[in-house]
Amino acid sequence: MSSIAFIGLGNMGAPMALNLVKAGHEVVVFDLVADAVARLTGAGARAAASADAAVQGVDVVITMLPASKHVEGLYLEQNLLGKIPAGALVIDCSTIAPDSARKVAAAAQVRGLEMIDAPVSGGTGGAVAGTLTFIVGGAPAALERARPVLEKMGKNIFHAGEAGAGQVAKICNNMLLGILMAGTSEALALGVANGLDPKVLSDIIAKSSGRNWATELYNPWPGVMEHAPASKGYAGGFGVDLMLKDLGLAAESALASRSSIPLGELARNLYSLHSNGGSGRLDFSSIVNLYANDRD
Ligand code: NAD
Repeated sequence: MSSIAFIGLGNMGAPMALNLVKAGHEVVVFDLVADAVARLTGAGARAAASADAAVQGVDVVITMLPASKHVEGLYLEQNLLGKIPAGALVIDCSTIAPDSARKVAAAAQVRGLEMIDAPVSGGTGGAVAGTLTFIVGGAPAALERARPVLEKMGKNIFHAGEAGAGQVAKICNNMLLGILMAGTSEALALGVANGLDPKVLSDIIAKSSGRNWATELYNPWPGVMEHAPASKGYAGGFGVDLMLKDLGLAAESALASRSSIPLGELARNLYSLHSNGGSGRLDFSSIVNLYANDRD
């Protein structure tokens, strides 16, 4: 069983690391937030005092950090790559710019380390249940090395292409997610404003042609789905600012490739308005509040 350093124990990283502990791996954890580390050590992981200490002697390094600046900051500026044991496999699960992923992977290669970008889809529910989808960019042989570890945290593993390709696919997925969550919110608010019960309308849409991931698993209207962030004050889940970051990455990719993304840009502006209104740390399904602020 490989020993694993897991760095970044937020909404996603904590349950992912926990699944590795449960599977019997020796897991060494580090996060800048001490409480996040304490929760994992209480569940059987070993705490490290720094990222450098976490990677000592491990076979695999996994990071689950917010954005490109954190990933480049850790691996390159703080030179974590220089501290990772020769021959270890590096897996970055964060959603970041494809160019950042390529830059860090190239630096890893110079140091003789294999690295893949492996962003995930499936939300915090998928992270807890161990049913995430991994979208991998990198050499096929590196993916095969990673597969036994990824299988402890996820159900579907896709190879999107070479380094950075996992990020490109993830960004396309999340642009669609941002659009569909805003669209679902808009439709529910319209129905409620015209006298419908949000649960009844959601049940109808979930079995009709407008059905989607939000109506099936992550309804944005409070009280419709007991376990969705909407029913818990939009706490936890996938932050508005993280969605805004991903829509920004989509906009950058569109500029670079001269692609048209009118709906993606509109969604980016909606989440930006919502974030600037003070909701940046809420779950992204709180975008429904832009449409339905006056509800009970
Ligand atoms: P989060 O903000 O909850 O957690 C990030 C964690 O990283 C925090 O605990 C933070 O303290 C830690 N961190 C930051 N810099 C660090 C450093 N230098 N060293 C150690 N720890 C550091 O974010 P999250 O929701 O867990 O998301 C993580 C990544 O996964 C993001 O890129 C996000 O876009 C992506 N993602 C999130 C979801 C979701 O539903 N939340 C789903 C799919 C993908």
